[in-house]
Amino acid sequence: MTALVLKNVGVLDTESCEVTRYDNVVLEGGKIVEINTAPTSEDGKDVIDCGGLTLMPGLIDCHVHINMSSWSTPQNAALHNSLVAARATRILNGMLMRGFTTVRDTGGADKGYVIATDEGTIVGPDLVICGKMLCQTGGHQDVRAKWDNQDPEYLRFQLGSKSHMCDGVPEVRKAVRQEIRAGADYIKIIANGGLAPTGVPINHLAFSEEEIAAIVEEAAIADTYVAAHAYTDKSIERCVRLGVRTIEHCVFVSEETAQMMKEKGCIAVPTMATFETLEGKSSSMTPEQQERARQARESAYNAMVILKEAGVPMAFGTDLTHISLHHHQSDEFTYRSRVLPAKDVLQSATINAAKVLRKENELGNVFVGAKANLLLVEGNPAEDVTLLSKPDNMKLIIKSGEIVKNTLN
Ligand SMILES: [Zn+2]
Repeated sequence: MTALVLKNVGVLDTESCEVTRYDNVVLEGGKIVEINTAPTSEDGKDVIDCGGLTLMPGLIDCHVHINMSSWSTPQNAALHNSLVAARATRILNGMLMRGFTTVRDTGGADKGYVIATDEGTIVGPDLVICGKMLCQTGGHQDVRAKWDNQDPEYLRFQLGSKSHMCDGVPEVRKAVRQEIRAGADYIKIIANGGLAPTGVPINHLAFSEEEIAAIVEEAAIADTYVAAHAYTDKSIERCVRLGVRTIEHCVFVSEETAQMMKEKGCIAVPTMATFETLEGKSSSMTPEQQERARQARESAYNAMVILKEAGVPMAFGTDLTHISLHHHQSDEFTYRSRVLPAKDVLQSATINAAKVLRKENELGNVFVGAKANLLLVEGNPAEDVTLLSKPDNMKLIIKSGEIVKNTLN
């Protein structure tokens, strides 16, 4: 791969949120190798004049489901594996073209996608996966119909299913080991119900404390961590106390629990895009369910304020499902900016997200040695983060040192 010189750039430091003008940034071997204040030799290198635009790290979404293309989780779980994979390819490509150069799948994606993306068969973001999410019998992701008593083991082998069903300490331990063996980078659990009209009520907890503690221990044995789908304060409190590291959705968190999250070093991953697009599903909801969804959305905004006040780091997540909704991924920047400063929102999709992935040494900022996942944008997203909600504003998208989009003339 020929080295690439990006000339005449303003580099956005996502830590300080300052933009500093540099003469050039040099990429080679998929990494940033130089950031220079003076001109460098251009012999044998490709050169792009960036016209003084802002260079920033590629975006990271910490909560996606690349296999979800249908409204309904049970319907999605029943799709052909080939159809799920074909649609996921399109979903992944869309994410990359919105500037997301890394995504963390929070249930469903398998190692095949990681290999396909790494080798370039799929043109998409780098993927971090948990395999299937662990769910107890009768839990939020037990997608079997009530009359269906067949062994749920088959759900592990449906690509469109997100669940790995397990009950009791020996089974949950084995489930973690199976997911790690299959290539999971971290472990995801379902720790309470959800908002789906026909699903498990939100106030139902899931897994005993013994089971959660065993899952956390097994993940730690494999040098990784646990993420939990947790809405209610009780569920969040339990997960945090038992050693879960990232709290997904985190809708009804109290000030007290947020304080504990801070003390324990937890990271919250709010997912506003999914709440903001619930209307699309409203035809299948009763007025009462619509009202509950509205309340959850309001609480989710309020939760971000509580988390900020407690000093809990937040990472960027979207959690979109139907194939027609994935384009709302970038709107998450606009939603969050209603209650949070631009700087915080920018950091959620860069340095904080890199922390979630435990990849601060290569992602989330522009520095020598970082992976060359970069965006060139107009304006300063640290001042107006809604600029990142407009993919047209991204003139250049680079992943692993290779240009995937270039609309500079
Ligand atoms: Zn999710």
